[in-house]
Amino acid sequence: MSYDPAAISTLIRNRLESFQSNTTVEEVGLVVETADGIVRVSGLPNAMLGEMIAFPNGIFGIVFNLEADHLVVIILGKKTAVTIGDTAKCSGRIMEVPVGKALLGRVVNAVGEPIDGKGPVASTGVRPVETKVPGVLDRSPVEEPMQTGYKIVDALIPIGRGQRELIIGDRQTGKTTLAIDTIINQKGAGVVCIYVAIGKKSSSVVEVLETLTKAGAMAYTIIVDASADDPASMQYLAPYSGTAIAEEFMYAEKQDVLIVYDDLTKHANAYRQISLLLKRPPGREAFPGDVFYLHSRLLERSARLSQELGGASITSLPIVETQRGDVSTYIPTNVISITDGQIFLQGDLFYAGFRPAINAGISVSRVGGKAQTAAIRKLSGKLRLELARFREKESFTAFASELDEETQLQLKRGTILVEILKQGIHVPMPVEEQVLSIYLATSVLIEKLDLSKVKAFEMALLAKVRSEDQSLLEEIRSSKKFTPDSETKLRSHIQALLDGAFKG
Ligand code: ATP
Ligand code: MG
Repeated sequence: MSYDPAAISTLIRNRLESFQSNTTVEEVGLVVETADGIVRVSGLPNAMLGEMIAFPNGIFGIVFNLEADHLVVIILGKKTAVTIGDTAKCSGRIMEVPVGKALLGRVVNAVGEPIDGKGPVASTGVRPVETKVPGVLDRSPVEEPMQTGYKIVDALIPIGRGQRELIIGDRQTGKTTLAIDTIINQKGAGVVCIYVAIGKKSSSVVEVLETLTKAGAMAYTIIVDASADDPASMQYLAPYSGTAIAEEFMYAEKQDVLIVYDDLTKHANAYRQISLLLKRPPGREAFPGDVFYLHSRLLERSARLSQELGGASITSLPIVETQRGDVSTYIPTNVISITDGQIFLQGDLFYAGFRPAINAGISVSRVGGKAQTAAIRKLSGKLRLELARFREKESFTAFASELDEETQLQLKRGTILVEILKQGIHVPMPVEEQVLSIYLATSVLIEKLDLSKVKAFEMALLAKVRSEDQSLLEEIRSSKKFTPDSETKLRSHIQALLDGAFKG
């Protein structure tokens, strides 16, 4: 090959003309301080609050605070994952989680990574973990029921789709069970359920998973788990991530969603832990001053959307733990003021065998009434009144023999009613069966029945109608009404049992 200077210079000129530089100037920050999963980064003056920061080895963190000459970043991963001297880069993205239908049936961590050993999730998109809440014009009134399957709740403290109902009570009073059974009760109701576990032992989350799987509820459920072993940052993030996953179903799929936050006491504790490490001034009960905002901006995202936006909803059941029934401490008072009602679970009722241990006298639902099934609403007035009357006089039962006959009978009726309101775990009842039980509870037909036979009578009645009179159940189910005609049919079933198996 001959040496041709002209050809070479043309080649060089062409190369130079077509040369494009791919390099851009990139800011690289430096980790200057670390403490318990919280790091200070200098050299990233353009970072935004809430932005994801990338560290070596695929570790991410969220900008939690912007200070004069550095950023405070909470690390999403092991506390020791990032060390002093590590580089840090802005990602240009606000924290996001994978969302979509592929998550159904899965257990994921606070950043949406699967932790159930079933392989990767083929998620279809991402959503920012924190978003603007729907405004007043984007919402429509709550008017469709969200059935829990518990007679006492659906009758006396009815919850509507799009509502925020707090479940509050001491340790071991049945809070989680109530929420889980509500999820189980959504089978066939077209509701997507999300259970966010915050700061729990991994073993108790496994238990929840097993219960839901056994009940066939995982098909429409997603579990977001930031357990007690996870860093505070993950526990802090989990409810927002869960809500982002919920929002995808509400906005994009136009599906109703039920989300459980179990529980916000631990969530607030995680936030306090982070804040104290940041040396933010502690306020009441050592919580930082903005702890109210922590939960209000979370729960404001529950809504029933306007028709223009598809009309779907997110119903939330936040759970708060109290100490010895004290609701006047900081977190309970905050969350009570943010939600649309509270279900109070009481230790003494629980130990007295009244389970679910709901104090119906002080529990409320501020919007659910409009959303209650008509058939139940028809019966609930009498139930509420009789229950209240009974609770007032209950203390006299001890010396009932000294009371006049009328009062004795009233007390007897009260104890029967309470007996029927009791309900076991993981057996939520469909509306039409609840109607039968509640009618029975408030009916005078069984006032002579021995208390020990009441529960058996209820079960026998349900079994009898199920096997002999499906049309009665169907009628209530489809019309959502309890007509005089249905009442006559039901009375004859009750009478038949009284004259038959329960005679004498
Ligand atoms: P923790 O404070 O530990 O989270 P919790 O308030 O969530 O407790 P659960 O775990 O739901 O309470 O229930 C505590 C125990 O009470 C469980 O063993 C559960 O099976 C039982 N329990 C809950 N509800 C009922 C019920 N309706 N009938 C009978 N037992 C129940
Ligand atoms: Mg619990």
